[in-house]
Amino acid sequence: MPLFFENMIVVKTKEEIELMRESALVVSRTLGMLAKEVKPGVTSLQLDKLAEDYIRSQGAIPGFLGLYDFPNTLCMSPNEQVVHGFPTNEPLKEGDIISIDCGAIKNDFYGDHAYTFAVGEIDSETEKLLQVTKESLYVGIREFKLNNRVGDVGYAIQQYCETHGYGVVRELVGHGIGRKMHEDPEMPNYGRRGRGKKFIEGMVVAIEPMINMGTHRIKQHRDGWTITTQDGKPSAHFEHDVAIINGKPELLSTFAYIYEALGIKSDEEDEFRQKALVL
Ligand code: MG
Ligand code: MG
Repeated sequence: MPLFFENMIVVKTKEEIELMRESALVVSRTLGMLAKEVKPGVTSLQLDKLAEDYIRSQGAIPGFLGLYDFPNTLCMSPNEQVVHGFPTNEPLKEGDIISIDCGAIKNDFYGDHAYTFAVGEIDSETEKLLQVTKESLYVGIREFKLNNRVGDVGYAIQQYCETHGYGVVRELVGHGIGRKMHEDPEMPNYGRRGRGKKFIEGMVVAIEPMINMGTHRIKQHRDGWTITTQDGKPSAHFEHDVAIINGKPELLSTFAYIYEALGIKSDEEDEFRQKALVL
């Protein structure tokens, strides 16, 4: 997300983190609901309407709508769009990918996470981009623990993705999250080990690698929002909300609803939960 943050980390109490888990789960369920609807022929504006209605039905408010004057509930970024795309009336096509970023506010706390979906069958090269980007998210989350630093997370994500020949977007970063969507610290997906702010108990951040198949370079469209890759190759985006509890990374969001909808079995989140997830 854009680079404007306050220069102060807001630590959360255990009770506040449980409220944030509720906000994150509203977004998780919304993405799970959308997973069934992402298919050729549907438009991103139709998905946006479904998401807004669903979020409100959960006693929550769309987190992006009106934030920095963004006009929709979802950021919908197909193919070479990196992030911050607008929902449109153009139908999704077989073989597209679409990154859906969703935010919600419940109990005055934000949830914010993202998943890149395949529309029907996609080619194996793009499939690998999605796989590696999602793996890099967990590689980063593993470093978000007591006494590590911001640079440890960024370094881990960058190494993992560049080893596969991918470009790590520099201009957009993850962030602290709480009563504000964007809190300190910035969480770049690149960096140097041992550098940057130290992690402390009760921190909550959104970690969100934005990874390009080709060059890391991006361009901003005249609409002031949409970001695309400079070389037109696809880009993927996966995001989770994570807290430090008992010194360890604890996932507040989950892709389990998406996997349930798509019939996928996965244990990728298990190591980041101190108690079982009840869906
Ligand atoms: Mg997001
Ligand atoms: Mg975010």
